[in-house]
Amino acid sequence: MANVLKTIRTGNDYIESLRGRDLKVYLFGELVKEPVDHPMIRPSINAVAETYDLAVREEALASAHSSLTGLTVNRFLHIAESAQDLVLQNKMQRKLGQNTGTCFQRCVGMDALNSLHSTTFEIDEKHKTDYHKRFLEFVKMVQKENLVIGGAMTDPKGDRSKGPAEQDDPDLFTRIVDRDEKGIYVSGAKAHQTGCINSHWIILMPTVRLTENDKDWAVVGAIPADAKGVTYIYGRQSCDTRSMEEGDIDSGNAKYGGQEALMILDRVFIPWDKVFMHGEYEFASMLIERFTCYHRRSYVCKTGLGDVLIGAAATIADYNGVPNVSHIKDKIIEMTHLNETIFAAGIASSHQGHKMKSGVYLNEDVLAQVCKHNVTRFPYEISRLAQDIAGGLVVTLPSEKDFRHPVAGPLLKKYLKGRKGADVENRMRILRLIENMTLGRNAVGYLTESMHGAGSPQAQRIQIQRQMQIGYKKNLAKNLAGITNDIEEPNELSDYFNRIFKTKDSIL
Ligand SMILES: Cc1cc2nc3c(=O)[nH]c(=O)nc-3n(C[C@H](O)[C@H](O)[C@H](O)COP(=O)(O)OP(=O)(O)OC[C@H]3O[C@@H](n4cnc5c(N)ncnc54)[C@H](O)[C@@H]3O)c2cc1C
Ligand code: SF4
Repeated sequence: MANVLKTIRTGNDYIESLRGRDLKVYLFGELVKEPVDHPMIRPSINAVAETYDLAVREEALASAHSSLTGLTVNRFLHIAESAQDLVLQNKMQRKLGQNTGTCFQRCVGMDALNSLHSTTFEIDEKHKTDYHKRFLEFVKMVQKENLVIGGAMTDPKGDRSKGPAEQDDPDLFTRIVDRDEKGIYVSGAKAHQTGCINSHWIILMPTVRLTENDKDWAVVGAIPADAKGVTYIYGRQSCDTRSMEEGDIDSGNAKYGGQEALMILDRVFIPWDKVFMHGEYEFASMLIERFTCYHRRSYVCKTGLGDVLIGAAATIADYNGVPNVSHIKDKIIEMTHLNETIFAAGIASSHQGHKMKSGVYLNEDVLAQVCKHNVTRFPYEISRLAQDIAGGLVVTLPSEKDFRHPVAGPLLKKYLKGRKGADVENRMRILRLIENMTLGRNAVGYLTESMHGAGSPQAQRIQIQRQMQIGYKKNLAKNLAGITNDIEEPNELSDYFNRIFKTKDSIL
Protein backbone atom coordinates (compact mmCIF):
# COMPACT_ATOMS: atom_id res chain seq x y z
CA MET A 1 0.00 0.00 0.00
CA ALA A 2 1.51 3.27 -1.14
CA ASN A 3 2.59 5.77 1.51
CA VAL A 4 1.26 3.88 4.47
CA LEU A 5 3.64 3.65 7.40
CA LYS A 6 4.41 0.09 8.33
CA THR A 7 3.85 0.45 12.09
CA ILE A 8 0.50 -1.32 12.17
CA ARG A 9 -0.82 -2.61 8.89
CA THR A 10 -2.50 -5.96 9.26
CA GLY A 11 -4.84 -7.42 11.83
CA ASN A 12 -1.94 -9.41 13.24
CA ASP A 13 0.20 -6.28 13.60
CA TYR A 14 -2.69 -4.71 15.48
CA ILE A 15 -3.12 -7.68 17.81
CA GLU A 16 0.61 -7.63 18.61
CA SER A 17 0.45 -3.86 19.27
CA LEU A 18 -1.98 -4.51 22.14
CA ARG A 19 0.36 -6.83 24.03
CA GLY A 20 2.31 -5.86 27.12
CA ARG A 21 0.38 -2.71 27.97
CA ASP A 22 -0.17 -1.73 31.55
CA LEU A 23 -3.98 -2.05 31.50
CA LYS A 24 -5.92 -2.57 34.70
CA VAL A 25 -8.86 -4.74 33.62
CA TYR A 26 -11.15 -6.55 36.07
CA LEU A 27 -13.08 -9.58 34.86
CA PHE A 28 -14.78 -12.11 37.18
CA GLY A 29 -13.27 -10.38 40.20
CA GLU A 30 -9.68 -10.75 39.01
CA LEU A 31 -7.19 -8.57 37.19
CA VAL A 32 -6.63 -9.88 33.67
CA LYS A 33 -2.93 -10.56 33.02
CA GLU A 34 -2.97 -10.13 29.24
CA PRO A 35 -6.33 -9.25 27.65
CA VAL A 36 -5.09 -10.33 24.20
CA ASP A 37 -4.85 -13.93 25.38
CA HIS A 38 -8.10 -14.06 27.34
CA PRO A 39 -10.54 -16.39 25.51
CA MET A 40 -13.53 -14.22 26.41
CA ILE A 41 -11.87 -10.99 25.25
CA ARG A 42 -10.11 -12.29 22.16
CA PRO A 43 -13.17 -12.44 19.84
CA SER A 44 -13.65 -8.68 20.33
CA ILE A 45 -10.00 -8.09 19.41
CA ASN A 46 -10.44 -10.25 16.30
CA ALA A 47 -13.36 -8.03 15.23
CA VAL A 48 -11.18 -4.90 15.39
CA ALA A 49 -8.35 -6.76 13.63
CA GLU A 50 -10.72 -7.29 10.70
CA THR A 51 -10.92 -3.49 10.23
CA TYR A 52 -7.18 -3.59 9.49
CA ASP A 53 -7.31 -6.64 7.26
CA LEU A 54 -10.18 -5.19 5.24
CA ALA A 55 -8.10 -2.06 4.60
CA VAL A 56 -5.39 -4.30 3.15
CA ARG A 57 -7.75 -6.50 1.12
CA GLU A 58 -10.08 -3.75 -0.11
CA GLU A 59 -8.05 -0.58 0.03
CA ALA A 60 -10.52 1.62 -1.84
CA LEU A 61 -13.32 0.70 0.57
CA ALA A 62 -11.53 0.81 3.92
CA SER A 63 -8.73 3.32 3.33
CA ALA A 64 -8.65 6.93 2.19
CA HIS A 65 -6.14 9.53 1.10
CA SER A 66 -5.65 12.02 3.91
CA SER A 67 -4.79 15.54 2.83
CA LEU A 68 -3.66 16.14 6.41
CA THR A 69 -0.73 13.73 6.27
CA GLY A 70 -0.55 12.99 2.54
CA LEU A 71 -0.85 9.32 3.46
CA THR A 72 -3.26 6.55 2.64
CA VAL A 73 -4.84 5.98 6.02
CA ASN A 74 -7.39 3.63 7.49
CA ARG A 75 -10.85 5.07 6.80
CA PHE A 76 -11.66 4.94 10.53
CA LEU A 77 -9.00 7.63 11.05
CA HIS A 78 -9.88 9.77 8.05
CA ILE A 79 -11.49 13.21 8.31
CA ALA A 80 -14.31 13.24 5.73
CA GLU A 81 -13.27 15.52 2.87
CA SER A 82 -16.39 14.96 0.74
CA ALA A 83 -19.89 13.52 0.92
CA GLN A 84 -18.47 10.52 -0.92
CA ASP A 85 -16.14 9.90 2.05
CA LEU A 86 -19.22 9.68 4.29
CA VAL A 87 -20.91 7.29 1.87
CA LEU A 88 -17.81 5.09 1.83
CA GLN A 89 -17.78 5.01 5.64
CA ASN A 90 -21.27 3.47 5.48
CA LYS A 91 -20.30 0.96 2.80
CA MET A 92 -17.26 -0.09 4.82
CA GLN A 93 -19.44 -0.44 7.94
CA ARG A 94 -21.91 -2.69 6.15
CA LYS A 95 -19.10 -4.86 4.80
CA LEU A 96 -17.50 -5.20 8.24
CA GLY A 97 -20.89 -6.09 9.75
CA GLN A 98 -21.20 -8.82 7.13
CA ASN A 99 -17.68 -10.11 7.80
CA THR A 100 -17.86 -10.16 11.60
CA GLY A 101 -21.56 -10.43 12.55
CA THR A 102 -20.85 -8.16 15.49
CA CYS A 103 -19.76 -4.69 16.58
CA PHE A 104 -16.26 -4.02 15.21
CA GLN A 105 -15.87 -1.09 17.62
CA ARG A 106 -14.00 1.55 15.63
CA CYS A 107 -16.83 3.86 14.51
CA VAL A 108 -17.21 5.72 17.81
CA GLY A 109 -13.63 6.98 17.47
CA MET A 110 -14.12 7.82 13.77
CA ASP A 111 -17.24 9.83 14.54
CA ALA A 112 -15.58 11.54 17.51
CA LEU A 113 -12.67 12.66 15.30
CA ASN A 114 -14.97 14.04 12.61
CA SER A 115 -17.24 15.88 15.05
CA LEU A 116 -14.28 17.37 16.91
CA HIS A 117 -12.84 18.71 13.65
CA SER A 118 -15.66 21.22 13.23
CA THR A 119 -16.34 21.80 16.94
CA THR A 120 -12.75 22.67 17.89
CA PHE A 121 -12.61 25.00 14.87
CA GLU A 122 -15.73 26.83 16.04
CA ILE A 123 -14.64 27.04 19.68
CA ASP A 124 -11.39 28.68 18.51
CA GLU A 125 -13.38 31.10 16.37
CA LYS A 126 -15.29 32.33 19.41
CA HIS A 127 -12.71 32.04 22.19
CA LYS A 128 -9.43 32.55 20.26
CA THR A 129 -8.16 29.24 21.67
CA ASP A 130 -5.93 26.83 19.74
CA TYR A 131 -7.81 23.55 20.17
CA HIS A 132 -8.16 22.91 16.44
CA LYS A 133 -4.39 23.01 15.87
CA ARG A 134 -3.78 20.64 18.81
CA PHE A 135 -6.53 18.38 17.52
CA LEU A 136 -5.04 18.26 14.00
CA GLU A 137 -1.65 17.29 15.46
CA PHE A 138 -3.36 14.45 17.33
CA VAL A 139 -5.12 13.27 14.16
CA LYS A 140 -1.85 13.34 12.21
CA MET A 141 -0.18 11.22 14.89
CA VAL A 142 -2.93 8.56 14.97
CA GLN A 143 -3.13 8.47 11.17
CA LYS A 144 0.63 7.96 10.88
CA GLU A 145 0.70 5.25 13.52
CA ASN A 146 -2.61 3.68 12.33
CA LEU A 147 -4.13 3.45 15.81
CA VAL A 148 -7.52 2.53 17.24
CA ILE A 149 -9.42 5.39 18.89
CA GLY A 150 -12.23 4.81 21.39
CA GLY A 151 -14.92 7.45 21.83
CA ALA A 152 -16.05 7.95 25.44
CA MET A 153 -19.13 10.11 25.78
CA THR A 154 -21.58 8.35 28.10
CA ASP A 155 -21.16 9.15 31.79
CA PRO A 156 -22.86 7.00 34.46
CA LYS A 157 -25.19 10.04 35.00
CA GLY A 158 -26.60 9.06 38.41
CA ASP A 159 -30.00 10.74 38.82
CA ARG A 160 -31.11 11.29 35.22
CA SER A 161 -33.29 14.24 36.16
CA LYS A 162 -30.25 16.23 37.34
CA GLY A 163 -27.28 17.82 35.58
CA PRO A 164 -23.62 17.23 36.49
CA ALA A 165 -23.29 19.99 39.09
CA GLU A 166 -26.57 18.97 40.77
CA GLN A 167 -25.57 15.35 41.49
CA ASP A 168 -24.82 14.35 45.08
CA ASP A 169 -21.60 12.75 43.83
CA PRO A 170 -19.83 15.03 41.31
CA ASP A 171 -17.89 12.07 39.88
CA LEU A 172 -21.03 10.66 38.22
CA PHE A 173 -20.05 12.87 35.30
CA THR A 174 -16.39 13.05 34.24
CA ARG A 175 -14.86 16.34 35.33
CA ILE A 176 -11.68 18.35 35.72
CA VAL A 177 -10.45 18.00 39.31
CA ASP A 178 -7.15 19.83 38.97
CA ARG A 179 -5.01 21.74 36.52
CA ASP A 180 -1.39 22.96 36.39
CA GLU A 181 1.05 24.37 33.86
CA LYS A 182 1.45 20.91 32.25
CA GLY A 183 -2.20 19.97 31.82
CA ILE A 184 -5.40 18.90 33.54
CA TYR A 185 -6.46 16.00 35.78
CA VAL A 186 -9.85 14.32 35.29
CA SER A 187 -11.90 12.00 37.49
CA GLY A 188 -15.19 10.21 36.99
CA ALA A 189 -16.24 7.35 34.76
CA LYS A 190 -17.52 6.41 31.33
CA ALA A 191 -20.13 3.67 31.01
CA HIS A 192 -20.71 1.04 28.29
CA GLN A 193 -17.42 1.83 26.55
CA THR A 194 -17.22 0.01 23.24
CA GLY A 195 -13.81 -1.45 22.43
CA CYS A 196 -12.06 0.63 25.09
CA ILE A 197 -9.64 -2.13 26.10
CA ASN A 198 -8.94 -2.78 22.41
CA SER A 199 -8.16 0.92 21.75
CA HIS A 200 -4.79 2.67 21.77
CA TRP A 201 -6.24 6.09 22.61
CA ILE A 202 -9.56 7.19 24.05
CA ILE A 203 -11.20 10.56 23.51
CA LEU A 204 -13.23 11.76 26.51
CA MET A 205 -16.21 13.99 25.70
CA PRO A 206 -19.17 15.41 27.64
CA THR A 207 -22.45 13.52 27.39
CA VAL A 208 -25.13 16.15 28.13
CA ARG A 209 -25.88 19.79 27.36
CA LEU A 210 -24.03 21.84 30.02
CA THR A 211 -24.71 25.11 31.84
CA GLU A 212 -22.33 27.68 33.30
CA ASN A 213 -22.42 25.76 36.61
CA ASP A 214 -21.04 22.72 34.79
CA LYS A 215 -17.81 24.35 33.53
CA ASP A 216 -15.60 21.71 35.18
CA TRP A 217 -17.48 19.01 33.29
CA ALA A 218 -16.92 20.74 29.93
CA VAL A 219 -13.84 18.75 29.03
CA VAL A 220 -12.61 16.98 25.92
CA GLY A 221 -9.24 15.28 25.87
CA ALA A 222 -7.35 12.29 24.51
CA ILE A 223 -5.72 9.74 26.81
CA PRO A 224 -3.80 6.54 26.07
CA ALA A 225 -5.99 3.53 26.93
CA ASP A 226 -3.38 2.49 29.49
CA ALA A 227 -3.02 5.92 31.11
CA LYS A 228 -2.22 5.96 34.83
CA GLY A 229 -5.41 6.14 36.90
CA VAL A 230 -7.67 4.26 34.45
CA THR A 231 -9.44 1.09 35.64
CA TYR A 232 -11.71 -1.04 33.45
CA ILE A 233 -14.40 -3.40 34.71
CA TYR A 234 -15.35 -5.73 31.87
CA GLY A 235 -19.00 -5.88 30.81
CA ARG A 236 -20.68 -9.30 30.69
CA GLN A 237 -22.48 -10.41 27.58
CA SER A 238 -25.12 -13.09 27.49
CA CYS A 239 -23.52 -16.57 27.07
CA ASP A 240 -20.03 -15.00 27.09
CA THR A 241 -18.37 -17.91 28.93
CA ARG A 242 -19.15 -20.21 26.02
CA SER A 243 -15.98 -18.70 24.47
CA MET A 244 -14.08 -20.38 27.33
CA GLU A 245 -15.50 -23.84 26.65
CA GLU A 246 -14.01 -26.51 24.42
CA GLY A 247 -15.20 -26.61 20.81
CA ASP A 248 -16.53 -23.85 18.60
CA ILE A 249 -20.18 -24.70 17.93
CA ASP A 250 -21.89 -23.51 21.11
CA SER A 251 -20.49 -19.98 20.98
CA GLY A 252 -22.34 -19.50 17.67
CA ASN A 253 -19.73 -17.09 16.29
CA ALA A 254 -16.48 -18.36 17.75
CA LYS A 255 -14.22 -15.83 16.04
CA TYR A 256 -15.90 -12.47 16.57
CA GLY A 257 -17.55 -10.57 19.41
CA GLY A 258 -18.06 -7.06 20.72
CA GLN A 259 -16.70 -5.43 23.86
CA GLU A 260 -17.99 -2.95 26.42
CA ALA A 261 -16.55 -2.00 29.78
CA LEU A 262 -17.04 0.48 32.58
CA MET A 263 -14.08 2.84 32.51
CA ILE A 264 -13.13 4.57 35.76
CA LEU A 265 -10.89 7.62 35.78
CA ASP A 266 -9.00 8.58 38.92
CA ARG A 267 -7.06 11.84 38.48
CA VAL A 268 -6.03 10.91 34.95
CA PHE A 269 -3.55 13.43 33.58
CA ILE A 270 -4.11 15.02 30.15
CA PRO A 271 -1.31 17.27 28.86
CA TRP A 272 -2.48 20.56 27.34
CA ASP A 273 -1.65 19.47 23.79
CA LYS A 274 -4.25 16.68 24.12
CA VAL A 275 -6.96 18.93 25.63
CA PHE A 276 -9.56 19.95 23.02
CA MET A 277 -12.16 21.62 25.28
CA HIS A 278 -11.62 23.13 28.70
CA GLY A 279 -14.58 24.92 30.24
CA GLU A 280 -16.36 26.11 27.06
CA TYR A 281 -19.62 24.59 28.35
CA GLU A 282 -21.77 26.18 25.62
CA PHE A 283 -20.05 24.00 22.99
CA ALA A 284 -20.92 20.69 24.69
CA SER A 285 -24.29 20.48 22.94
CA MET A 286 -22.73 21.33 19.55
CA LEU A 287 -20.23 18.50 19.98
CA ILE A 288 -22.88 16.02 21.15
CA GLU A 289 -25.25 16.90 18.30
CA ARG A 290 -22.55 16.58 15.66
CA PHE A 291 -21.19 13.37 17.14
CA THR A 292 -24.66 11.79 17.28
CA CYS A 293 -25.37 13.03 13.76
CA TYR A 294 -22.38 11.04 12.45
CA HIS A 295 -22.89 8.13 14.79
CA ARG A 296 -26.61 7.58 14.27
CA ARG A 297 -26.04 6.97 10.60
CA SER A 298 -23.00 4.82 11.39
CA TYR A 299 -25.59 2.35 12.66
CA VAL A 300 -25.94 1.05 9.10
CA CYS A 301 -23.33 -1.33 10.54
CA LYS A 302 -26.38 -3.28 11.74
CA THR A 303 -27.46 -3.95 8.14
CA GLY A 304 -24.30 -6.02 7.71
CA LEU A 305 -25.36 -8.05 10.75
CA GLY A 306 -28.87 -8.18 9.29
CA ASP A 307 -27.44 -9.67 6.09
CA VAL A 308 -25.83 -12.43 8.17
CA LEU A 309 -29.05 -13.15 10.08
CA ILE A 310 -31.15 -13.20 6.91
CA GLY A 311 -28.63 -15.65 5.43
CA ALA A 312 -28.82 -17.78 8.59
CA ALA A 313 -32.64 -17.83 8.46
CA ALA A 314 -32.62 -18.84 4.80
CA THR A 315 -30.05 -21.56 5.54
CA ILE A 316 -31.99 -23.11 8.43
CA ALA A 317 -35.17 -23.04 6.32
CA ASP A 318 -33.24 -24.99 3.70
CA TYR A 319 -31.85 -27.49 6.26
CA ASN A 320 -35.37 -27.89 7.69
CA GLY A 321 -36.69 -28.70 4.21
CA VAL A 322 -38.98 -25.65 3.87
CA PRO A 323 -37.06 -23.13 1.76
CA ASN A 324 -39.85 -22.76 -0.80
CA VAL A 325 -42.84 -22.53 1.52
CA SER A 326 -44.62 -19.24 0.77
CA HIS A 327 -44.75 -17.76 4.29
CA ILE A 328 -41.03 -18.52 4.83
CA LYS A 329 -40.13 -16.80 1.57
CA ASP A 330 -42.35 -13.88 2.54
CA LYS A 331 -40.68 -13.59 5.95
CA ILE A 332 -37.26 -13.48 4.33
CA ILE A 333 -38.52 -10.75 2.00
CA GLU A 334 -39.82 -8.82 5.02
CA MET A 335 -36.47 -9.16 6.81
CA THR A 336 -34.69 -7.86 3.72
CA HIS A 337 -37.14 -4.98 3.35
CA LEU A 338 -36.56 -3.89 6.96
CA ASN A 339 -32.80 -4.24 6.65
CA GLU A 340 -32.60 -2.18 3.48
CA THR A 341 -34.88 0.48 5.00
CA ILE A 342 -32.22 1.04 7.65
CA PHE A 343 -29.51 1.22 5.02
CA ALA A 344 -31.53 3.57 2.80
CA ALA A 345 -31.85 6.25 5.48
CA GLY A 346 -28.20 5.97 6.53
CA ILE A 347 -26.67 6.09 3.09
CA ALA A 348 -29.04 8.90 2.04
CA SER A 349 -27.92 10.87 5.09
CA SER A 350 -24.31 10.49 3.96
CA HIS A 351 -25.07 11.38 0.33
CA GLN A 352 -26.69 14.59 1.62
CA GLY A 353 -23.44 15.48 3.46
CA HIS A 354 -22.41 19.12 3.49
CA LYS A 355 -19.22 21.01 4.17
CA MET A 356 -18.69 22.67 7.56
CA LYS A 357 -16.64 25.82 8.20
CA SER A 358 -13.62 23.74 9.26
CA GLY A 359 -13.71 21.85 5.94
CA VAL A 360 -14.98 18.52 7.29
CA TYR A 361 -18.18 17.06 5.80
CA LEU A 362 -21.18 16.35 8.02
CA ASN A 363 -24.01 14.04 6.96
CA GLU A 364 -27.68 15.08 7.03
CA ASP A 365 -28.98 15.08 10.59
CA VAL A 366 -32.70 14.34 10.12
CA LEU A 367 -32.00 11.29 7.98
CA ALA A 368 -29.36 10.12 10.49
CA GLN A 369 -32.00 10.30 13.25
CA VAL A 370 -34.43 8.31 11.11
CA CYS A 371 -31.74 5.72 10.38
CA LYS A 372 -30.96 5.20 14.07
CA HIS A 373 -34.62 5.25 15.06
CA ASN A 374 -35.28 2.43 12.59
CA VAL A 375 -32.31 0.60 14.11
CA THR A 376 -33.97 0.75 17.54
CA ARG A 377 -36.85 -1.32 16.10
CA PHE A 378 -36.16 -3.28 12.93
CA PRO A 379 -33.38 -5.62 14.19
CA TYR A 380 -35.86 -6.81 16.86
CA GLU A 381 -38.43 -7.65 14.19
CA ILE A 382 -35.79 -9.24 11.97
CA SER A 383 -34.68 -11.34 14.98
CA ARG A 384 -38.28 -12.34 15.74
CA LEU A 385 -38.70 -13.55 12.17
CA ALA A 386 -35.37 -15.42 12.28
CA GLN A 387 -36.46 -17.23 15.45
CA ASP A 388 -39.84 -18.01 13.87
CA ILE A 389 -38.11 -19.60 10.86
CA ALA A 390 -35.47 -21.38 13.00
CA GLY A 391 -37.88 -23.33 15.19
CA GLY A 392 -37.58 -24.15 18.90
CA LEU A 393 -34.22 -25.90 18.60
CA VAL A 394 -32.63 -22.46 18.63
CA VAL A 395 -33.13 -22.57 22.42
CA THR A 396 -33.25 -26.29 23.21
CA LEU A 397 -30.24 -27.55 21.29
CA PRO A 398 -27.92 -29.79 23.37
CA SER A 399 -24.26 -28.94 23.76
CA GLU A 400 -21.37 -29.65 21.43
CA LYS A 401 -19.91 -31.91 24.15
CA ASP A 402 -23.02 -34.13 23.94
CA PHE A 403 -22.80 -34.06 20.17
CA ARG A 404 -19.21 -35.41 20.40
CA HIS A 405 -20.10 -37.98 23.09
CA PRO A 406 -19.90 -41.67 22.06
CA VAL A 407 -23.42 -42.45 23.36
CA ALA A 408 -25.34 -39.16 23.18
CA GLY A 409 -23.71 -38.09 19.88
CA PRO A 410 -25.20 -40.78 17.64
CA LEU A 411 -28.62 -40.18 19.22
CA LEU A 412 -28.38 -36.50 18.36
CA LYS A 413 -27.24 -37.33 14.82
CA LYS A 414 -30.32 -39.55 14.40
CA TYR A 415 -32.93 -37.25 15.94
CA LEU A 416 -31.67 -33.81 14.91
CA LYS A 417 -31.80 -34.62 11.21
CA GLY A 418 -33.50 -32.14 8.92
CA ARG A 419 -34.02 -32.66 5.23
CA LYS A 420 -32.14 -35.45 3.42
CA GLY A 421 -28.57 -34.45 2.76
CA ALA A 422 -28.44 -31.68 5.38
CA ASP A 423 -25.54 -32.30 7.75
CA VAL A 424 -26.64 -32.35 11.42
CA GLU A 425 -23.53 -30.50 12.59
CA ASN A 426 -24.13 -27.75 10.04
CA ARG A 427 -27.72 -27.50 11.23
CA MET A 428 -26.48 -27.09 14.81
CA ARG A 429 -23.95 -24.46 13.75
CA ILE A 430 -26.50 -22.28 12.01
CA LEU A 431 -28.97 -22.58 14.90
CA ARG A 432 -26.23 -21.51 17.30
CA LEU A 433 -25.43 -18.51 15.10
CA ILE A 434 -29.10 -17.44 15.23
CA GLU A 435 -29.04 -17.89 18.99
CA ASN A 436 -25.79 -15.91 19.19
CA MET A 437 -27.24 -12.94 17.29
CA THR A 438 -30.71 -12.86 18.82
CA LEU A 439 -30.16 -14.04 22.41
CA GLY A 440 -26.47 -14.58 22.97
CA ARG A 441 -23.24 -12.66 22.85
CA ASN A 442 -23.80 -10.79 19.63
CA ALA A 443 -27.38 -9.88 20.55
CA VAL A 444 -25.60 -7.16 22.54
CA GLY A 445 -24.40 -5.72 19.24
CA TYR A 446 -27.44 -6.57 17.16
CA LEU A 447 -30.23 -5.71 19.61
CA THR A 448 -29.50 -3.76 22.80
CA GLU A 449 -26.72 -1.68 21.28
CA SER A 450 -29.19 -0.94 18.47
CA MET A 451 -31.63 0.32 21.10
CA HIS A 452 -29.33 2.46 23.26
CA GLY A 453 -26.01 2.95 21.46
CA ALA A 454 -25.69 6.52 20.06
CA GLY A 455 -28.67 7.42 22.27
CA SER A 456 -31.93 5.78 23.31
CA PRO A 457 -34.98 6.08 20.99
CA GLN A 458 -36.41 9.19 22.65
CA ALA A 459 -33.23 11.11 21.85
CA GLN A 460 -33.89 10.63 18.13
CA ARG A 461 -37.55 11.59 18.46
CA ILE A 462 -36.54 14.85 20.14
CA GLN A 463 -34.14 15.65 17.29
CA ILE A 464 -36.74 14.74 14.67
CA GLN A 465 -39.33 16.89 16.44
CA ARG A 466 -36.93 19.85 16.56
CA GLN A 467 -36.30 19.70 12.83
CA MET A 468 -39.60 18.55 11.36
CA GLN A 469 -40.75 22.08 10.43
CA ILE A 470 -44.39 21.58 11.20
CA GLY A 471 -45.33 25.24 10.60
CA TYR A 472 -43.88 25.14 7.10
CA LYS A 473 -45.73 21.91 6.39
CA LYS A 474 -49.01 23.38 7.69
CA ASN A 475 -48.56 26.27 5.29
CA LEU A 476 -48.07 23.83 2.39
CA ALA A 477 -51.41 22.28 3.28
CA LYS A 478 -53.15 25.60 3.88
CA ASN A 479 -51.90 26.91 0.56
CA LEU A 480 -53.36 24.00 -1.37
CA ALA A 481 -56.57 24.15 0.64
CA GLY A 482 -56.97 27.82 -0.26
CA ILE A 483 -56.48 29.18 3.29
CA THR A 484 -54.93 32.64 2.96
CA ASN A 485 -55.78 34.34 6.27
CA ASP A 486 -54.10 31.92 8.71
CA ILE A 487 -50.46 31.53 7.72
CA GLU A 488 -47.94 30.09 10.23
CA GLU A 489 -44.88 32.15 11.13
CA PRO A 490 -42.06 31.80 10.29
CA ASN A 491 -43.03 30.65 6.82
CA GLU A 492 -39.56 29.74 5.65
CA LEU A 493 -37.36 26.76 5.06
CA SER A 494 -35.31 25.53 8.01
CA ASP A 495 -31.89 23.97 7.74
CA TYR A 496 -33.27 20.57 6.76
CA PHE A 497 -35.19 21.71 3.71
CA ASN A 498 -32.50 24.23 2.85
CA ARG A 499 -30.06 21.37 2.67
CA ILE A 500 -32.48 19.13 0.79
CA PHE A 501 -33.25 21.79 -1.81
CA LYS A 502 -29.77 23.36 -1.65
CA THR A 503 -31.10 26.92 -1.53
CA LYS A 504 -28.26 28.05 0.72
CA ASP A 505 -24.51 28.06 0.45
CA SER A 506 -23.41 24.48 1.11
CA ILE A 507 -21.02 25.57 3.90
CA LEU A 508 -23.13 25.67 7.06
C1 LIG B 1 -23.70 -1.95 23.73
C2 LIG B 1 -23.51 -0.50 23.98
C3 LIG B 1 -22.37 0.14 23.54
C4 LIG B 1 -22.17 1.50 23.80
N1 LIG B 1 -20.99 2.09 23.41
C5 LIG B 1 -20.73 3.36 23.79
C6 LIG B 1 -19.47 3.97 23.51
O1 LIG B 1 -18.59 3.38 22.89
N2 LIG B 1 -19.24 5.22 23.93
C7 LIG B 1 -20.17 5.93 24.60
O2 LIG B 1 -19.89 7.05 24.95
N3 LIG B 1 -21.37 5.38 24.90
C8 LIG B 1 -21.67 4.13 24.51
N4 LIG B 1 -22.90 3.57 24.79
C9 LIG B 1 -23.81 4.34 25.62
C10 LIG B 1 -25.10 4.81 24.99
O3 LIG B 1 -24.91 5.99 24.28
C11 LIG B 1 -26.10 4.94 26.15
O4 LIG B 1 -26.46 3.61 26.54
C12 LIG B 1 -27.32 5.74 25.83
O5 LIG B 1 -26.98 7.09 25.65
C13 LIG B 1 -28.38 5.62 26.93
O6 LIG B 1 -27.82 5.92 28.18
P1 LIG B 1 -27.99 4.92 29.41
O7 LIG B 1 -27.58 3.58 28.97
O8 LIG B 1 -27.32 5.53 30.57
O9 LIG B 1 -29.56 4.83 29.65
P2 LIG B 1 -30.47 5.83 30.44
O10 LIG B 1 -30.00 7.23 30.21
O11 LIG B 1 -30.62 5.40 31.84
O12 LIG B 1 -31.84 5.66 29.66
C14 LIG B 1 -32.85 4.71 30.04
C15 LIG B 1 -34.21 5.27 29.64
O13 LIG B 1 -34.47 6.45 30.38
C16 LIG B 1 -34.75 7.54 29.50
N5 LIG B 1 -34.16 8.75 30.09
C17 LIG B 1 -32.91 8.91 30.59
N6 LIG B 1 -32.73 10.17 31.04
C18 LIG B 1 -33.87 10.82 30.79
C19 LIG B 1 -34.30 12.17 31.03
N7 LIG B 1 -33.51 13.06 31.60
N8 LIG B 1 -35.55 12.50 30.60
C20 LIG B 1 -36.36 11.59 30.02
N9 LIG B 1 -36.00 10.30 29.80
C21 LIG B 1 -34.78 9.93 30.18
C22 LIG B 1 -34.11 7.17 28.18
O14 LIG B 1 -34.74 7.80 27.07
C23 LIG B 1 -34.30 5.65 28.16
O15 LIG B 1 -35.57 5.33 27.69
C24 LIG B 1 -23.14 2.23 24.49
C25 LIG B 1 -24.32 1.60 24.92
C26 LIG B 1 -24.51 0.26 24.67
C27 LIG B 1 -25.78 -0.40 25.17
S1 SF4 C 1 -22.33 -0.32 17.03
FE1 SF4 C 1 -21.91 -0.23 14.84
S2 SF4 C 1 -21.40 1.91 14.54
FE2 SF4 C 1 -21.12 1.54 16.71
S3 SF4 C 1 -18.95 0.96 16.88
FE3 SF4 C 1 -20.16 -0.92 16.74
S4 SF4 C 1 -20.03 -1.43 14.58
FE4 SF4 C 1 -19.49 0.72 14.74
